[in-house]
Amino acid sequence: MTKPPLTLHLAAPRGFCAGVDRAIKIVELALKKWGAPVYVRHEIVHNRYVVDGLRAKGAVFVEELDECPNDRPVIFSAHGVPKSVPEEAARRNMIAVDATCPLVTKVHLETQRHHEQGRQLIMIGHAGHPETVGTMGQAPEGAVLLIETVEDVATLQVADPDRLAYVTQTTLSVDDTAEIVAALQARFPGIEGPAREDICYATTNRQAAVKAIAPKIDALIVIGAPNSSNSLRLVEVGRTGGCPNAQLVQRAGDIDWAALEGARDVGLTAGASAPEALVNEVIDALRDCFDVTVELVETAVERIEFKIPKALREAEEAA
Ligand code: SF4
Repeated sequence: MTKPPLTLHLAAPRGFCAGVDRAIKIVELALKKWGAPVYVRHEIVHNRYVVDGLRAKGAVFVEELDECPNDRPVIFSAHGVPKSVPEEAARRNMIAVDATCPLVTKVHLETQRHHEQGRQLIMIGHAGHPETVGTMGQAPEGAVLLIETVEDVATLQVADPDRLAYVTQTTLSVDDTAEIVAALQARFPGIEGPAREDICYATTNRQAAVKAIAPKIDALIVIGAPNSSNSLRLVEVGRTGGCPNAQLVQRAGDIDWAALEGARDVGLTAGASAPEALVNEVIDALRDCFDVTVELVETAVERIEFKIPKALREAEEAA
């Protein structure tokens, strides 16, 4: 039987970013240096395939530090943790390795600086997301106000409108965040913000690639986890950018084939925590049903790499 033709518009950049790459490497090197088990507070990155792979090598994933024994190393996930977490690990004399992405750490430092300089902080982010919890936890409880939408700006109650600063989660929608920042600046003209926005290069680049593809396609597949902020934003960007038929899948087995019926042009991308193996798995599944021609849509080239923490450099050199 002849298969229907399908042009697959493959976004680039897609998938793993430098922060995710580094976090996974940190867990692997820690296992090499200290042996199993190594404890990891929260999923190291939001991807089940990655987490299961590390679990098979001896990583133990927990949600809180009190689930870790004192005599085994603990790693903090790429999303970052509130200040109280490393403080508690130090109090318990634990070996702790911080896999927080350096671009999240940058936002932590901004938060601390503004708080020390007496400014009230407003964080633009998603309630309950570990990165938001970690960033808000850089200042005492109640010192950082969280907003999620433009509408939230109107109802904000601040102590002193002339002593305000804002920070953002790194994985938000570039366009939605620009609107929220504009609303903040309109209401509080003296508000301070980051010199360069907090949304990271990987989030920005992956959204730009989807924007370039969206108007040309009948359907979009985004590979990522339902709790991955940057993957969810890629689905939204696809929908608002011209492709309402956008789906999030964790693996090829999740593809909604009915949504691809009659499609001739399909876009494919992956969130920053999704490995390339899953992209290849989805392409293979599409090839089973369609006569696929892959067209790469490259809107940026990424060459960023982050250093491994000192405690693991020897293990890295020996690898
Ligand atoms: Fe770092 Fe951005 Fe990757 Fe998050 S998405 S780990 S902030 S580079």
